[in-house]
Amino acid sequence: MVVMKFGGTSVADRAAIERLMAIVRAQRQAEAQQEGGDARGPIVVVSALSGVTDRLLGVAAQAGAGDIEGARNSLRDLHQRHIAVAEVITDAALRAQTLEDLAGEFEELERIVAALAVLREVSPRWMDTIAAAGEILSSRVVAAALNAHALPAGWVDARRAVVTDGEHQAAAPHFPETTAALMTCVDPLLASGRIPVVGGFVGATRDGVTTTLGRGGSDYSAAIIGACLGVAEIQIWTDVDGMLTSDPRIVKDPQVVPHISFAEASELAYFGAKVLHPATIQPAVARNIPVRILNSKRANARGTLITAERPSTDRPLTAVASKKGVTVVDITSTRMLMAHGFLSRLFSVFDRFKTPVDVVTTSEVSVSVTVDDTRHLPDIVQALQAFADVSCEGDMAIVCAVGDGLQRDPSLAARVLTSVGDVPIRLVSQAASRRNITFVIRESDVATALSRMHESFFAPYPVSASVAGTRG
Ligand code: ADP
Ligand code: ASP
Ligand code: MG
Repeated sequence: MVVMKFGGTSVADRAAIERLMAIVRAQRQAEAQQEGGDARGPIVVVSALSGVTDRLLGVAAQAGAGDIEGARNSLRDLHQRHIAVAEVITDAALRAQTLEDLAGEFEELERIVAALAVLREVSPRWMDTIAAAGEILSSRVVAAALNAHALPAGWVDARRAVVTDGEHQAAAPHFPETTAALMTCVDPLLASGRIPVVGGFVGATRDGVTTTLGRGGSDYSAAIIGACLGVAEIQIWTDVDGMLTSDPRIVKDPQVVPHISFAEASELAYFGAKVLHPATIQPAVARNIPVRILNSKRANARGTLITAERPSTDRPLTAVASKKGVTVVDITSTRMLMAHGFLSRLFSVFDRFKTPVDVVTTSEVSVSVTVDDTRHLPDIVQALQAFADVSCEGDMAIVCAVGDGLQRDPSLAARVLTSVGDVPIRLVSQAASRRNITFVIRESDVATALSRMHESFFAPYPVSASVAGTRG
């Protein structure tokens, strides 16, 4: 049994959903052959149609600003787009039923938006209710499309399947309750030979309040469901050939990494490789379930396999990633730094405001940390100022190079840093695992730095004598 997750571009329109169906059919046939009988599964997890979550969050913002007309127009556009995509449901009765379901969802959204526009305030809880609609809608369409094409499927309401805490817009799953919920709503479908289709990104609290797992969270849903049910593989179907050696939007011609470890993949995802939601790997690690990243437009490409261990290669680095929108906070205290309890006092401030720090470096008199969630930064600075001097610098970026070569070759870290040439480096950190080297630069230097690093370590042909040396 596998979980197959299809991202926004893989369900974007009628052609994309037709490709999805061919991929699911092939998987089902392969499974039937393997089992020597009827197929069970796969479990299909879908994102909202591409761009829809952004549009829905825009609708919430319009409602919050009291722009009821604007919000209604946006909802009308979205409704039309879903009606057009529902053409993929070739069976007239199934299509009519689905159009009715879609209309019901949009009526509900209109009611919510009208109420919020009066209040002129949209809390994170209502943002989640509105944003969740994208996956509810897409999963309804995909379930009906599969049924219309002789792939017996059943729609699963994600709000009944994935049980989370109440941390809106970044909810975390409760695994035991989710497992129990899946037994109730997914297992019977599987037992009757049907393909469960569930919207990603969405969950609900124990009290039934809708939550979301954070942007890009459908990958996480697939991993949560896969881990709870102990599947053999979690497949992430997307619009690139796999985990690439760098971000294709920044670097020219990155290459596919055929096999990568859980640890490497989670570092890359955390530090900006958008192809995987950063929390996705966690549930897969816990159950040791392989994750595969595949291209829904080139279903036969090998993709990237992610497992606990991977065969070693002679490549010094596996990939490089970057995360923009980072702020560096410098905390200086000549009096306190060496004093017992200083660091714990410092980090307790970030803890109190639920703000994670990513990179940490210390010198004798100062500590620098990076944060990407700046919502509570003014409060954090104020609290830190009670015992230290504090300054902040925004528009920074974290760059992260990952690879086992860093453990093997003591000179590699230095070569990674020099490969960025004259780009000024603000902070550098290498953790005990020595699997990655992380540094902080200005956001405006990211394209230059990443391209230079990529050229030095991933060029198909050596570009200089020193680079030839790095390729063993
Ligand atoms: P989906 O909608 O399928 O979840 P996403 O847009 O979330 O797709 O993620 C896929 C995108 O991630 C790719 O189109 C690519 O631009 C971006 N990306 C960034 N870094 C990497 C990387 N290292 N490898 C592959 N893709 C990457
Ligand atoms: N639709 C959600 C988003 O755009 C979740 C996802 O696509 O993974 O963030
Ligand atoms: Mg994604």
